[in-house]
Amino acid sequence: MSSTILVVEDEPAIQELIAVNLSFAGHKVLRAFDVDQAETLIRAELPDLILLDWMLPGASGITLARKLRSDERTRMVPVIMLTAKGSEQDKVDGLEAGADDYITKPFSPKELMARIKAVLRRRAPQLTDDMIEVDGLKLDPISHRLSGRGQSLAIGPTEFRLLHFFMTHLERVFSRTQLLDQVWGDHVFVEERTVDVHIRRLRKALEPSGHDLHVETVRGSGYRFTSQLPKS
Ligand code: CA
Repeated sequence: MSSTILVVEDEPAIQELIAVNLSFAGHKVLRAFDVDQAETLIRAELPDLILLDWMLPGASGITLARKLRSDERTRMVPVIMLTAKGSEQDKVDGLEAGADDYITKPFSPKELMARIKAVLRRRAPQLTDDMIEVDGLKLDPISHRLSGRGQSLAIGPTEFRLLHFFMTHLERVFSRTQLLDQVWGDHVFVEERTVDVHIRRLRKALEPSGHDLHVETVRGSGYRFTSQLPKS
């Protein structure tokens, strides 16, 4: 499981310790010392998860958490608050601001990793290694294998990621911009047309077992993966 994680922490030693542990676990790490830097990084690339220190120079972590939750683009990004504060009220404030979890300093790297994994499993199942099956279509994130009704299907890496995202977010319509953010991690430097190209390839890969029909175009909005095919 490899995700892009943004660490917002103003204490260099703690930031370094967290970054080293995340890299070691195979994650891509983005680092910021304050809210301004964090926002600049988020504009360029939407992270899969944000570790956010509460006490920062300038705007506080709570301020950023609230902003992230009120913005359509960043609303879904999981946030774990890091803080030296440990009171019940602080915890409530953090969760009310939109944090998914809360971890009190000092914490062990092992505890941090376990929390990250739990939050991703709950909020971003496309980033976990769980096997998924929808209407006879089976996707195995560990072996990168795909089969439709027992028949092995050949699929490219980008189409695989796209399908993984769709199969963990059934029935929801996603715009091209949202798909670029969620699957490519970038809606700024990649053209929207790119999505259409990969949707075409995905349908082609699913054709042999008839699962291409699950990939629906929603005119004017984007794409959806449905588990229920219309009766013909
Ligand atoms: Ca701090």
